Amino acid sequence: MKLLEERILKDGNVLGEGILKVDSFLTHQVDFELMQEIGKVFAEKYKDVGITKVVTIEASGIAPAIYAAQALNVPMIFAKKHKNITMTEGILTAEVYSFTKQVTSTVSIAGKFLQEDDVVLIVDDFLANGQAAKGLLEIIQQAGATVAGVGIVIEKSFQTGRALLEEAGVPVTSLARIQEFKDNTVVFTEADA
Ligand code: 5GP
Repeated sequence: MKLLEERILKDGNVLGEGILKVDSFLTHQVDFELMQEIGKVFAEKYKDVGITKVVTIEASGIAPAIYAAQALNVPMIFAKKHKNITMTEGILTAEVYSFTKQVTSTVSIAGKFLQEDDVVLIVDDFLANGQAAKGLLEIIQQAGATVAGVGIVIEKSFQTGRALLEEAGVPVTSLARIQEFKDNTVVFTEADA
């Protein structure tokens, strides 16, 4: 997605250890117009497979996921990273190791929001080693629902996430794919949309 690649080049900052900071439009301050365009691209890609829910993980997945859900006209559910006393029954959980925070946390979705006949599009901000998406896959499988694909805003193709998801038989659609960080600038490889 050209618009996204241009924005990454303009406003992204390469930090050490393979991390890209995009807090001016995606992970902290959010550019809703860009997110809406991103949502439309995901929706266009998955419009014919009968998506019934969009699932993401808090917090930075929520912005692209809500616009994908709007464009597909289906509900958006975000997995919670912290236990909540109001979540009392039928909770589906998975352990997720966070690449950026370097801690393992239990993420959860209330079972009542996912049914066996649901066809789910997973959306997330970044794909690094695929642990967040894998956790969501596990939760959706616990519900007996189907995952039609994973929509990623920024994939770091030099990490193992895509291989992990493709091995699990899940199609991945990444709107920007980073091949490497060279002299602190981003080098893209061809994206999926
Ligand atoms: P994974 O689970 O695929 O290893 O990592 C994906 C998660 O880690 C994303 O949800 C995102 O929150 C975070 N993440 C991974 N790499 C980056 C990065 O380069 N920059 C930012 N801002 N977040 C990242």
